[in-house]
Amino acid sequence: MGNSNENNLENTGNFIHSIIREDLKGELNSLRTRFPPEPNGYLHIGHAKSICLNFGLAAQYGGKCNLRFDDTNPAKESTEFVNSIQNDIKWLGFDWEDRLYFASSYFGRMYECAIELIKKGKAFVCDMTAEEMHQARGTLTTPGTESPWRNRSVEENLDLFERMKNGEFEDGSRTLRAKIDMSSPNMNMRDPVIYRIAHMTHHATGDEWCIYPMYDFAHPLEDAFEGITHSICTMEFEDHRPLYDWVVNTLDFKVKPRQIEFAKLNLENTIMGKRYMRNLVETGQVDGWDDPRLVTLSGIRRRGYTPESIRNFCDMIGVSKANSVVDLAQLEYCIREDLKPKTPVVMAVLDPVKLIIDNYPEGETEMLTIENHPDNESLGKREVPFSRELYIERSDFEEIPPKKFFRLTPGMEVRLKGAYFVTCTGCVKDDNGNVTEVHCTYDPATRSGLNFTERKVKGTIHWVNVATAVKADVNLYENLVVPDESSENGYRLNPDSLKTVQAYLEPCLKDTDPMDRFQFIRNGYFVADSKHCTKEHLVFNRIVSLKSSFKPH
Ligand code: ATP
Ligand code: MG
Repeated sequence: MGNSNENNLENTGNFIHSIIREDLKGELNSLRTRFPPEPNGYLHIGHAKSICLNFGLAAQYGGKCNLRFDDTNPAKESTEFVNSIQNDIKWLGFDWEDRLYFASSYFGRMYECAIELIKKGKAFVCDMTAEEMHQARGTLTTPGTESPWRNRSVEENLDLFERMKNGEFEDGSRTLRAKIDMSSPNMNMRDPVIYRIAHMTHHATGDEWCIYPMYDFAHPLEDAFEGITHSICTMEFEDHRPLYDWVVNTLDFKVKPRQIEFAKLNLENTIMGKRYMRNLVETGQVDGWDDPRLVTLSGIRRRGYTPESIRNFCDMIGVSKANSVVDLAQLEYCIREDLKPKTPVVMAVLDPVKLIIDNYPEGETEMLTIENHPDNESLGKREVPFSRELYIERSDFEEIPPKKFFRLTPGMEVRLKGAYFVTCTGCVKDDNGNVTEVHCTYDPATRSGLNFTERKVKGTIHWVNVATAVKADVNLYENLVVPDESSENGYRLNPDSLKTVQAYLEPCLKDTDPMDRFQFIRNGYFVADSKHCTKEHLVFNRIVSLKSSFKPH
C-alpha cells in the first residue's frame, strides 16, 4: 500500500476504515474484500451500498475485491440472475477483473472441511427431525438439550456422512451438526446444522450433490478459501459472528477473515427485499425486474438514473452500525445534481391545450434559436419552429386565477420561452365547460434576443408548435407502495404509481434514441425508455421532477 494513500486516508471514512487502517498497521499487508450476492433475484439499491463499500475499500487501500456468487442454495438460483448481477455491477462502474468465484465450485473443499471437523470430534451426524431439533433448542433464557446422537464415534459419523453424500437418505432425515455448546447464550452456537440433505438440481453443479452446506458454515469457508481479510456484511449477522469465528478457528486457517457488520440501507416507503420484488414480477404486477418503479439496479437504470448518481448517493449516506431510513429525496437530489449541468433542456407539453395567437400571420412559421442549456454553452443551440398555433400546459391558463398566478389569464402578459410576450385575451370552452382553446395576441417588439426592456413580465411558460409537434407517451411515477397499517408488511401497492400521458414534444426529439436524457423545461428530467421507445413510437420516463425537498448539510 502506498504511503501517500495512507496519509490521505488517515482521518477519513467510516468505522470500517478505522478498523482496516489498524489491521494494515499490524500483521496484515494487503486488503481483500468480496461482494457475495446470492443469485436468487436482481440486485437492488441496497446491494449498491454493499458493492460501493467493498469495491471502494479495496480501491482506496490498494487491495482487491472479489465477486463471489453465494450459490449454496439450489432452490431459487438461476443463471438469469447470475448474468444480470454481473451486468449491474459493471454498469455501476466496478470491475472484479479475473476474480469471479462461485461458492458452488467449493462444494468439494467444503465437504473435506466437514470431514475434518468430524475427525476433530467437532461435528456429528444427527438423526433428529427438524421439529425435534426445534423442541430441543431451548430458549433465550433456558439452555437447549443435547442431541441423543451427539456422542456418536468419529467412525460412525464419517460413515454416515459419506452415505448422506451418496444419497442413501431422504431429505430431512439426517443432518450434520457442529458440536459446540447447547447451553450457549447465543442460540447460533447450540450445535447448529452445517449440512442438510436436499435432492435438488443445482444451477451450476446439477445433480452432483444431494447434501448442501448451510450459510453459516459455507460463508466463512468461502471467505477463508479466497483469502478474504475483511468480510463485510449486514447487521443481522452480528449474532452469527461467534459461529463464523468458530468455523475459521476450528479449521485452523492461516489468514483468518474478519467479519464486520454494518447497517443495511432502508429507503423511505420502499420495499427492496428480493422476495417481495420477485413476487411482483412473477404475478405481472410490474413490467419485469427492470420496471422503472422498482429499486432494482436495472429498474433504476431504466428509470434514467446514472451510475455516478448512485455512487454519490452511497457515499453521501455513509456507513454505520445504526439502522436508519433514508429519505427518497436524498436519492432524487443525487440524480438532479448529476443531470443538471450536462442534460439538454427542451420543451414538452404533458397536458396540452391550444394557444392561438390571433394577431400572428396565418400560415407563417419562423425559426427561433434557443440555447440547449442555460449555463452550459457546450451543449449548443437549436432551431425551434414557432407559428400561430401552439400547445401549452393546461395548468398554465386559469380563467379565474388564484392569488400570485403569473401565467395566462385574461389581461395578463407572459413570456413564451425563447419567443415573444403574449397577452391573454380569453378562451373557448366546449359544452361541458372545458377549455379547448386559449387566445392571445403577441407583441413583435418583444422577440427574444432583441433586448426588449420597456415592460417586464412575471411569468415564462413553455410551448410546442402544433404543426410540427412530435407525439410521445410519457410515464409519470409515484411510489410503488404506500403505507398501510392493516397490511402484513405495512404497505400496499399504490394504484397511481404509473400514469401515462400523451405529450407533445419539440420536433428535435423526433430522433431520440433509447436512454437519451433531457430536461423537459418545468416538468423534470426524462429518459427515453430502453424497452419500449422506438422512432415510430416515442416513450419517455420521468426520472425525477425538478423540485427538491432535500437540503444537503
Ligand atoms: P434481500 O433480502 O434484499 O434479498 P439479501 O441480503 O438476501 O438481500 P444477498 O444476495 O444475500 O441479498 O446480498 C449480497 C450482499 O448485499 C450481502 O453482503 C448483503 O449483506 C448485502 N445487502 C443486501 N441488502 C442490503 C441493503 N439493503 N443494504 C446494504 N447491503 C445489503
Ligand atoms: Mg439472501
